[in-house]
Amino acid sequence: MEIVRLHAFTDNYIWGLRHNGQLAVVDPGESAPVLEYLGQSGDRLVAILLTHHHGDHIDGAADLCALGNITVFGPAVDEIPFVTHPLHGGETIALPGFDAEGSFKVLSVPGHTRGHLSYYRPGMVFCGDTLFTLGCGRLFEGSPEQMWQSLSQLSALPVDTQVYCAHEYTYLNLPFALDVEPGNEKLQARAVSLREKISAGIPTVPDTLAAELETNVFLRPAVAEVISAARRFSGDETLTSPVQIFTALREWRNGYKPPVN
Ligand SMILES: [Zn+2]
Repeated sequence: MEIVRLHAFTDNYIWGLRHNGQLAVVDPGESAPVLEYLGQSGDRLVAILLTHHHGDHIDGAADLCALGNITVFGPAVDEIPFVTHPLHGGETIALPGFDAEGSFKVLSVPGHTRGHLSYYRPGMVFCGDTLFTLGCGRLFEGSPEQMWQSLSQLSALPVDTQVYCAHEYTYLNLPFALDVEPGNEKLQARAVSLREKISAGIPTVPDTLAAELETNVFLRPAVAEVISAARRFSGDETLTSPVQIFTALREWRNGYKPPVN
């Protein structure tokens, strides 16, 4: 199975999975990039995987369904009309015609939205707007507790898992990460390589879960420097538990303006 990157809007990624001339796409917020790719490659679209109901992830799907005979996986609680296979998490799905390579475990990861799903198979996870390179999604429908549970679930995947998130937000997340944890040498080293990519216009997604565990502050609420930063921001020296620290970090990030040089 080959993975292709399609660009949508200003910073969305639509991930394409290819196998034997068949294509499945994750979160087609726009149909045009997918239709263009199908025209160039000659592939046949067989399936759509949706992580959550936001327009920039699903608005291209109705158009694509008009191609006919498309299997559409998506969150059951969002009641998206064209979803043919509503999912709650815990299921194993098979992309039609993909053989064993098209088998994905469905993870329920609420927080950004209440029905948010991730699709995992060994080596890769498609996590939508839950986990980003150096960041995590905003809490539109879920509680910090739910989001922390969801991030913990993703953190427990094998560390060599490639994290295919749905946005290129690294340039926004990097200054925040450095403000929270300036003493993290792995973060400093990663910042150098990420800045090179960003300035050259090279995508920073995907990267490994190992890199996120070492440098993504939202996955590191037990680290002393992260705890002190969260306490400093909130003014509450009693913050201790991972959920408390995570909650303070998420609130800080919501209103964060990077320092002006
Ligand atoms: Zn979203």
